[in-house]
Amino acid sequence: MHNTDLLARSCSAVWHPCTQMKRHETLPLLPVQRGSGVWLYDFEGKRYLDAVSSWWVNLFGHSNPRINAAIIDQLGKLEHVMLAGFTHEPVVALSERLRELAPAGLGHCFYGSDGASATEIALKMSVHYWRNSEHPDKTRFISLQNSYHGETLGALSVTDVALFKTAYAALILQNDTVVSPDSRNAEAGEDTRDFALRCAEQLETYLQRHHTQIAAFIIEPLVQGAAGMAMYHPAYITRARELCEQYQVHLIADEIAVGMGRTGTMFACEQAHIVPDFLLLSKGITGGYLPLSIVMTTDVVYEAFYSDEMARGFLHSHSYTGNPLACRAALATLDIFAADDVLNNNRATADYFNRIASSLREHPGVRNFRNCGMIWAFEFVSPHADFAQRCFSLALEHELLLRPMGSTVYFMPPYVISKDEIDFLVGQTLQIIDTLS
Ligand SMILES: *Cc1c(COP(=O)(O)O)cnc(C)c1O
Repeated sequence: MHNTDLLARSCSAVWHPCTQMKRHETLPLLPVQRGSGVWLYDFEGKRYLDAVSSWWVNLFGHSNPRINAAIIDQLGKLEHVMLAGFTHEPVVALSERLRELAPAGLGHCFYGSDGASATEIALKMSVHYWRNSEHPDKTRFISLQNSYHGETLGALSVTDVALFKTAYAALILQNDTVVSPDSRNAEAGEDTRDFALRCAEQLETYLQRHHTQIAAFIIEPLVQGAAGMAMYHPAYITRARELCEQYQVHLIADEIAVGMGRTGTMFACEQAHIVPDFLLLSKGITGGYLPLSIVMTTDVVYEAFYSDEMARGFLHSHSYTGNPLACRAALATLDIFAADDVLNNNRATADYFNRIASSLREHPGVRNFRNCGMIWAFEFVSPHADFAQRCFSLALEHELLLRPMGSTVYFMPPYVISKDEIDFLVGQTLQIIDTLS
């Protein structure tokens, strides 16, 4: 099939996500035929290095033979069965494995189909917990400024991105935000830890005043992805955990983007030495293969629902809850973490990346060059108001898939990126930003 044919048919029949479709009158879609490792290939055999892991989901490369094999094996056994009243080996094995890996105490896994549904589940569970525990007034939530937790209506109520929210204001619960510890906003010369703790003081003031109505505080630990890879000091999370404990508010750690080794530890919360009340996983959990999300929670939460009364139970469901194929992809992903000593290898990869990227860090147009685990980001001072769009298009010409957010360029590559590929990624990016200077 020819490229242009697929383009026209896609724009006619497919309504693409996060897209003003009219833009595709001038900006072509990229039809992808196949993927292998960090590379995507179009129908003409042109290649693109997937520096954003296809919206932050891919961990071990496209069409990974080991994950492929696990899914194929599962296909021959059981593709799906409902999870109410039934169970199966992959969902049990995955829940047990995650319980072993996650911060201690998160022993119960509830399954959803995507990131936003995990947020919905956690918000509902939190409010229902307080209702079951004789605190029916705790029905509101707080999030950080510039937070992103998904785009269904409940998740949007804790997402602080005007562009995604404004049109639906009438449908969305009004929840408050507290100041983000985003290190870019520290005073000149201020230590990022001091700044984080200063931000936590505002959280404390807020909780003092409003805790009787607050069910939960939801955060993206260490890195606020959609805020433009805003990174912050773990001291904020440690302090937030203390304050949530003190004021009887749940702490929800949305690790949908930052979990699964992305920040250098398996879970970002580990760097703050805390256990949240809810831990949300999705995106990388299946290695970027299949939609799946998981809400992990504690015995305390679980037991508040355990009752002879039906209505005290958590009656939420999705048709594909705990899909066996997705669970097998997740198990194969965890197998790779164990077999390949991924977290240690990523440290070496990140060290190498940081050495090579010093050329970017020192570029006169680059501001706030930052790194956390396997995420890199910087702001670029460009004379072009449409920098993000230009950078995206120019990157494709340079065989890169980059997707800047405003003036923020970031790299979130699959963990299997090689030294040669890092050289290529950084070298091409330098050329691109030179052109856009
Ligand atoms: C992507 C993302 C979500 C939403 O996940 P979807 O699968 O896109 O619904 C929620 N929270 C964070 C931090 C994310 O990065």
